[in-house]
Amino acid sequence: MRLGRPTILVDINRGPGLDTIEKLNDTTVRVGALVRHSMLIEQTHLPLLSEAAKWIGHSAIRTRGTTGGSIAHADPSAELPVVATALGALVHVHGPGGTRTVVADDLFVGPLETSLDENEIVTAVDFPVPERSGFAASPVGTATSVSSPSPWRSSEGSPGSRSAVSAPYPSGPSPPKRSSRTGR
Ligand SMILES: Cc1cc2nc3c(=O)[nH]c(=O)nc-3n(C[C@H](O)[C@H](O)[C@H](O)COP(=O)(O)OP(=O)(O)OC[C@H]3O[C@@H](n4cnc5c(N)ncnc54)[C@H](O)[C@@H]3O)c2cc1C
Repeated sequence: MRLGRPTILVDINRGPGLDTIEKLNDTTVRVGALVRHSMLIEQTHLPLLSEAAKWIGHSAIRTRGTTGGSIAHADPSAELPVVATALGALVHVHGPGGTRTVVADDLFVGPLETSLDENEIVTAVDFPVPERSGFAASPVGTATSVSSPSPWRSSEGSPGSRSAVSAPYPSGPSPPKRSSRTGR
């Protein structure tokens, strides 16, 4: 989108092991940073991801766009950040200081802004698999929402639900990102 004017470009396309989707167990699916949106549509481990990725741009964008790029770009109108926020996904990050894991809520700090250091890259995202989920897009394509009743617990310990809504940017004075946690 020509928002940045980098003086150095690092091509991570040949980074080994970054383009796989792995079901770690019944509750977690790990998506490598180089997994294309089209691959998310085809996978069956987490139907919510498939459903959401279908709404991304058009065919060429879904063929080239990556999970890590979408998460790092942190566009508040993008599909994957809103799914990651609703699910409480864990983002794996690698940099000169080693590796760390950041929960999505702490990664997205504002529109097009993350808590990543400039010398860190996203290597993978762990998406929890909810018991139930839903994804909706508005007819004009300006808002999406996700709800995922599990695996969260409310403060009382009962099963909880979360939802997240995306918004176009700029969207006025209120913060574009929304997430909430409620008991069920
Ligand atoms: C015309 C158009 C329409 C689009 N429509 C939609 C849409 O409807 N919905 C939607 O969700 N998205 C949409 N997108 C965004 C698209 O899906 C990609 O997610 C986005 O462009 C990022 O592309 P990329 O993965 O090639 O990353 P790049 O363009 O290469 O990188 C984007 C940014 O993230 C950084 N980055 C990339 N990978 C990593 C990494 N692994 N770790 C750390 N930083 C990284 C880069 O340095 C750069 O700052 C659209 C994009 C375009 C151009």
